[in-house]
Amino acid sequence: MRRRATFVPYRPKSILNKQKRPDHWFWTRYSAYPYVGCQHGCEFCYCRERKYCPYDDVSDFAYVIRVKENAPNLLRQALSRVPVAPIFTGDYQPAERKFGLSRQMLEVCHDLGFPVFILERSPLVLRDMDLLQSIDARAGVIVAFSVISTPDSPGYERVRRMERLAPAPEKRFAAMEQFAKAGIVTGTCLMPVLPDLCDDDDNLECVIRWTAEHGGQFVLASGLTLADQQRDYFFDVMGECYADLLDRYQALYPEGSYGPVWGRWREIALRVKELCAQHGIADRIPRPIMRGHKRILNQRIVEALANQLYYMELDGAPDRRVWAYRKAAWAIEDLEQDVGLVYRMMGLKGLESIPNVGSQLARVVERLIKELESEN
Ligand code: SF4
Repeated sequence: MRRRATFVPYRPKSILNKQKRPDHWFWTRYSAYPYVGCQHGCEFCYCRERKYCPYDDVSDFAYVIRVKENAPNLLRQALSRVPVAPIFTGDYQPAERKFGLSRQMLEVCHDLGFPVFILERSPLVLRDMDLLQSIDARAGVIVAFSVISTPDSPGYERVRRMERLAPAPEKRFAAMEQFAKAGIVTGTCLMPVLPDLCDDDDNLECVIRWTAEHGGQFVLASGLTLADQQRDYFFDVMGECYADLLDRYQALYPEGSYGPVWGRWREIALRVKELCAQHGIADRIPRPIMRGHKRILNQRIVEALANQLYYMELDGAPDRRVWAYRKAAWAIEDLEQDVGLVYRMMGLKGLESIPNVGSQLARVVERLIKELESEN
């Protein structure tokens, strides 16, 4: 018999996680969530890692949901004190029907003008379409759906077992279509790409085709990570339900590894890129540009550098080159002047004077300025 969920209200002291800059994957600088634990209970979920999972028994993660009853107030206080930047929020597991905290947190984002990024496995997010449209008009919204296989995928039933408590992928794609029709940027996070379960070409093509057919603008893929108690839990599930793959996963993820120690991630990511191009969508999330932002060109250049460094990593470029791009992207993110103005006033020398840019990257930035300005 399916175990029933229990809900444990509590009042945390803080709710907002902050980073110095937006990350280069989701383009968010903040995150805040109303619940701990997730009734969708995906077997691979990284939130079972010790640092995110406060349960003595890891299997409670899907059935004992801690409810941050003061989440909206905490969020309002916290966002009132920080610069406006995109926030990763929303959690539409079944608890949301009962408590409605995700909606109240979105209301705070709306009132304070914060752009929002949501990543969901549930179509319940459609309930808040009205509010998301208002936030989109004011500040910007992206609603992404986590999908790792489709009913057309060869191994669908087997993969579906991994996330059997979450709503079916068809429902997520139907929701994606509704957001696309409403003019909200939407797409797929193909995460995690599970070795030998959903990393085959047919599945990648299915997920990308379904995304394009339902109005999605991107498919962002990434691999599986396994740490501490999450790894133990995952291997127990593998032993019970995927015994034929257990040895292979244990070899890919030896004790203390976190990511796979070998495998074909680069090949898969390049294939995702190729298939996305064939279906006319992106393999990266487009950076949301905040309306009225003073340094839009800087943000666009950071986005271009971040995308370039991602492809350099896939192509096996030396670490020091990748790091040079990353540091230049951070420097331009932090720059308080408009980079186009710096270039117009001081030319290449001005770009070279930006910390961590240097002469080689200055020429890359110069080319990007010319390309991006000619597009406008
Ligand atoms: S829906 Fe997301 S947060 Fe919930 S269990 Fe699945 S992977 Fe984890």
